[in-house]
Amino acid sequence: MSLTTASSMKTLLDDDDRAMLRELLSDRVAFDEPLAPYTSWKIGGPADAFAQLERENELAAVLTHCVRRRLPWFVLGSGSNLLVGDGGIRGIVLRLGGDFARVEVRASEEGVRVVAGASASMAAITARAASAGAVGIGSLAGIPGTLGGSLRMNAGTDREMGDFIRDVRVQSPSRPAPHSVDVRYFYRRTNLARDAVVVGAELAFARGDAQAVREEMQARLVRRKQTQPIALPNAGSCFRNPEGEKAARLIEAVGAKGWREGDAEVSPLHANFINNLGAASACDVATLLARVRRAVYERFGIGLELEVHLVGVFVDREWDGGHGRVA
Ligand SMILES: Cc1cc2nc3c(=O)[nH]c(=O)nc-3n(C[C@H](O)[C@H](O)[C@H](O)COP(=O)(O)OP(=O)(O)OC[C@H]3O[C@@H](n4cnc5c(N)ncnc54)[C@H](O)[C@@H]3O)c2cc1C
Repeated sequence: MSLTTASSMKTLLDDDDRAMLRELLSDRVAFDEPLAPYTSWKIGGPADAFAQLERENELAAVLTHCVRRRLPWFVLGSGSNLLVGDGGIRGIVLRLGGDFARVEVRASEEGVRVVAGASASMAAITARAASAGAVGIGSLAGIPGTLGGSLRMNAGTDREMGDFIRDVRVQSPSRPAPHSVDVRYFYRRTNLARDAVVVGAELAFARGDAQAVREEMQARLVRRKQTQPIALPNAGSCFRNPEGEKAARLIEAVGAKGWREGDAEVSPLHANFINNLGAASACDVATLLARVRRAVYERFGIGLELEVHLVGVFVDREWDGGHGRVA
C-alpha cells in the first residue's frame, strides 16, 4: 500500500481541461465525483473527472486530449472487479454508454452471432443470446460486468469470453479511430494493450435448442445464488485460483471465513469473496486481503495472486487519519 502524500490527492486537471470536457460532454461530465456508487463493492474515493461517453468521436477527443496534456485516464466498466482506493483516481475516469450499449443478435443455420458495444451488460448479452439458442452462453451468465470489462478480464467459469470472441474493436490514444485488434486470452487476463479501450466485439456460438439453453443457464444462475453472496456488495472472487488449486479452499482451510477488518468481511458463504457490510473502506479490504494472503502463505507456502484490480490512491489511515481530500 502506498503512503499517501498531499500531491497524490490533488486534482491533476486545470481550468482548460474542465472547460474542454464541459464543452464536449455538457452535463455528462462531473468533477470530484465519488466512485463508490459505480463499483460493486460500493467503495472508492473521487475521480478528478468522471466522463460519460456515448459516441466514438467523444472517446477519440478525450483520449487525444489526455495525450496532449499528459493526463492519466482510466476506463471503468461496471466496476465489478475493482477495488478503487479511498483517495480516488487522479485524471479522467471514462465510462461508456449510449452507442456503446448496443446489442445485436443474429441467428442463422451457421450459428448465433452477437455484435455488442463495450458497455453492453453481460446480463443483456447472455439473456438475448440464450433466447437465440447460443450453446455455451450459460458459462458467461451471472457475471455482473460489461462486455468491455469482461473481455479485458477474460471473464468466465468453465468456459471464458475468449472461447467465443471473434472480433475486438478498440480505440487508443495512439490510434483514436476504432480498429480491430488480435487479442490472446489467458486465465482471467488478456494481452490487450493497457491503453486500448474496447469499444465493441463480436461473439460466435453454435446454435442449439433455445429452450434447453435457457434452462441450462437458469440452473447455473440458481447455483450461483446458493454458493455466492450475490446480494451483498463485493467484487466476486478476490484471488486467482493457483494452478491445480482453488483459492477458496485454501482460504477456508486457514479458517478465514468470517474474518473482519472494519466493515470488510471474508464471506462465510464463499471464502474467496470479501463483503462490504456497510461502511468498509478500500483500506479495510486491502488490509483483509493482505491478512488472508499471509495466512495462506504461512500454512501452504502458496502466494495467492489478486484477481481484482486495485486502482487509484490508497489512503493510509495512520498517515492522515481519514479520507479527506487535499484541495
Ligand atoms: C457477484 C460477482 C460474481 C462474479 N462472478 C464472476 C465469474 O463467474 N467469472 C469471472 O470471470 N468474474 C466474475 N466476477 C468479476 C467481474 O464481474 C468480472 O471480472 C467482469 O468481467 C468485470 O467487468 P466490469 O465491466 O465490471 O469491469 P470493471 O471491474 O469495471 O473493470 C475491470 C478491468 O477492465 C478494464 N475495462 C473495463 N472496461 C473496459 C473497456 N471498455 N476497455 C478496456 N478495458 C476495460 C478496467 O479498466 C479494469 O482494469 C464477479 C463479480 C461479482 C461482483
